[in-house]
Amino acid sequence: MRGHSSASIVAIWWLTMISPLYGQQPIKWQIHDMERPVPPVVDPGTVSTQSEAGRPPADAIVLFDGKDLSQWLGGDGGPAKWKVGNGYMEVEPGTGDIASKSSFGDCQLHLEFSEPLPGSGESQERGNSGVFLMGLYEIQVLDSYHNRTYADGQAAAVYGQYPPLVNASRPPGEWQMYDIVFQAPRFAADGRLLRPARVTMLHNGLLVHYNVELTGPTAHKKRPPYKSHPEKLPLKLQDHHNPVRFRNIWIRELKPDAFGES
Ligand code: MG
Repeated sequence: MRGHSSASIVAIWWLTMISPLYGQQPIKWQIHDMERPVPPVVDPGTVSTQSEAGRPPADAIVLFDGKDLSQWLGGDGGPAKWKVGNGYMEVEPGTGDIASKSSFGDCQLHLEFSEPLPGSGESQERGNSGVFLMGLYEIQVLDSYHNRTYADGQAAAVYGQYPPLVNASRPPGEWQMYDIVFQAPRFAADGRLLRPARVTMLHNGLLVHYNVELTGPTAHKKRPPYKSHPEKLPLKLQDHHNPVRFRNIWIRELKPDAFGES
């Protein structure tokens, strides 16, 4: 009995020691305190259907509303050269990646994509594109509907690092959704990594990543280490020579308190 209670004391001590590592701050408000500030009211917009893109939340920065590429640049810094169709943009193979004019760090990103129909090519050559957070950290876009490839390179993978928890891919030609919560890495003034980037993500409404820690920038056949970079960088979409379509792209910048930091 005595042994059991000292084990419990050790367990409680241990939990006390490690709990700050999980970033949970103590609640400084009394329970049900009417003085506690209430969150801002935000019109959440509407959810997309297959036939129609939804309306973004009122506090989002709209990066693509289906009409034009005014929020985007080509890789050379000139105008983005991808095609704009009726309510969507489409990769124009060979014209290069496109980058958002604005830069972002911590964020919630929503985007929708549709894989080429009919599908063609296999593995990484089938409907490949990518969402590069900060231009460095790729969430793979691929036609992974009955298309085998390496697990850490299928749709919704953190490329080369983490396969999605499930393959929630819809058939080519259907609209699919990514909802990504991204915590940018933090660097010290001397360039040292203080905290890695983290990703939580839903693919078509299903959880595919929960708070995974990125090992560094994503790359093909290697896992390069972090290199210090600004707090905010442009979002990039990849031209991998497949005519993938995108629509309804919006982003909400998050403050450190979203992650329990002050
Ligand atoms: Mg890709």
